[in-house]
Amino acid sequence: MNQHHARGEGENRVAVYPGSFDPVTFGHLDIIRRAAKQFDRLIVSVLNNTTKSPLFSVEERVELLREVTKDLPNVEVDSFRDLLVRYMRNKQAQIIIRGIRSVTDFEYELQMASTNRQLDEGIETIFMMTNPKYSYLSSSIVKEIAKFHGAVQDLVPPAVEAALRNKYVPNRQP
Ligand code: ADP
Repeated sequence: MNQHHARGEGENRVAVYPGSFDPVTFGHLDIIRRAAKQFDRLIVSVLNNTTKSPLFSVEERVELLREVTKDLPNVEVDSFRDLLVRYMRNKQAQIIIRGIRSVTDFEYELQMASTNRQLDEGIETIFMMTNPKYSYLSSSIVKEIAKFHGAVQDLVPPAVEAALRNKYVPNRQP
């Protein structure tokens, strides 16, 4: 075990759930709630990824995550723009949480987890299987539906639904 990850008796188990969360869906929220039960602290952290062009700004995504997790006392929301393992070292976190929906997710996640292990052996990635109810659900699907003003109330919390409505105001121009 790496020196900087050594934990004494009674020390906190801190997990980080990193992602784009553009925007947070019921699929993410399900993982957040389940992970929060397993660890002392869960930090949900929005990756500030300059190569993707997101619908919501990092600040908006953080704000929505805070709103939908406000009933979970051991969950905090943050953002980062760094190597994940370095960010985690600074936060004294030892566990990465990721969700798996499909074989496609698995292949990508295996690559990410192996890379992170290569960079820092003291960090463990723990995968949580999707709730089958949400196995088809992704932020991109939600955005696609919202763009054409379809119903998303079964896919995202009300605060996110409202935020999507504001982004995709029907164009009243002729
Ligand atoms: P990223 O760009 O990092 O993949 P996402 O916001 O798309 O960010 O996803 C963050 C994490 O949440 C990933 O591990 C993804 O597999 C997981 N996830 C997304 N949607 C679901 C869902 N419906 N059920 C379970 N896990 C999910």
